Amino acid sequence: MTALATSSPSETGLEISTEDTLLRVRNLCKHFPVFSRGFIKKQIATIRAVDQVSFDLKRGETLGLVGESGSGKTTCARTILRALQPTEGEVLFRANGKTIDLSKTPERDLKPLRTKMQMIFQDPFSSLNPRMTVGEIVGEPLTIHRLAKGSEWEERIVEMLRRVGLKPEHRQRYPHAFSGGQRQRIGIARALIMRPSLVIADEAVSALDVSVQAQVINLLKDLQNELNLTYIFVAHDLSVVRHVCDRVAVMYAGKIVEIAPTLELFDEPKHPYTKALISAIPSPDPDIKLDFSIGGEVADPGNLPGGCSFHPRCPECFAPCKTEVPELIRLEKNRQTACHLYTP
Ligand code: SF4
Repeated sequence: MTALATSSPSETGLEISTEDTLLRVRNLCKHFPVFSRGFIKKQIATIRAVDQVSFDLKRGETLGLVGESGSGKTTCARTILRALQPTEGEVLFRANGKTIDLSKTPERDLKPLRTKMQMIFQDPFSSLNPRMTVGEIVGEPLTIHRLAKGSEWEERIVEMLRRVGLKPEHRQRYPHAFSGGQRQRIGIARALIMRPSLVIADEAVSALDVSVQAQVINLLKDLQNELNLTYIFVAHDLSVVRHVCDRVAVMYAGKIVEIAPTLELFDEPKHPYTKALISAIPSPDPDIKLDFSIGGEVADPGNLPGGCSFHPRCPECFAPCKTEVPELIRLEKNRQTACHLYTP
């Protein structure tokens, strides 16, 4: 239950009014202009990679951000962390007892905030410098942010390696000497060594074998409890999300089309796109017949169809879907969906 607390003044005059809310995203947009070729460049289209995304994230919560490739989930995550500059909207983040709007924070003021928000990437090998030892890789953020040096720097690296299930002596070795699962542990150690409060895991276990996936997921859960972490778990694999997340936000063509607690979303999906994604999860029982499938291509965010962006693929499409954009409406306390089949 969300406890109401005295609103905190923000650096920007904005505020988060509940004390257990770490992140509040409001109407976040990331649009990319498309220009014509030739001498005189004219804007001929806009790619709406992220469009009017809103959600809250509580401390200690894990939110899944799911959708097919091209749905905008990774761009959304990168825009929240200010790896990309938002086109519009607010990203309110609690740090050091203040509410800060990351979308408006000048670049020079972002550096100290970056210690509080980190990303874990899909491919641990490509994100690790092969010429650096594991100790240098894990300890580099401490050096960049001048948070530790000398024996303290060493101690924090050793402590972090232990936390992720690696040995202190591993810090002398190079990344190529490790398996895929171990390299992901190195990536996790590097992301967590500055003790962030918000961690975005972008397809963090997608490249791993299923058995290793389970180990890394269990590690992330343990670290969440030990270090009081809040996660956004970006994934296309719903079976992974099901085991990790408290809530799931489903994205299609840059928008959230459904957001709900994980169990409710899987037990009773509302939006036809969510139904299709869940139906596409391979069933271990061959006798279970899926009654819903998804065809066609993901909508092009630079050339979206009118009305509901999903309508050309939707088996439940009816007249208003082709002309009216459905709003994200609240169905129940914790459930929202954007579909003309539902009314508030
Ligand atoms: Fe399908 Fe219409 Fe709902 Fe879009 S609004 S998901 S087309 S039923």
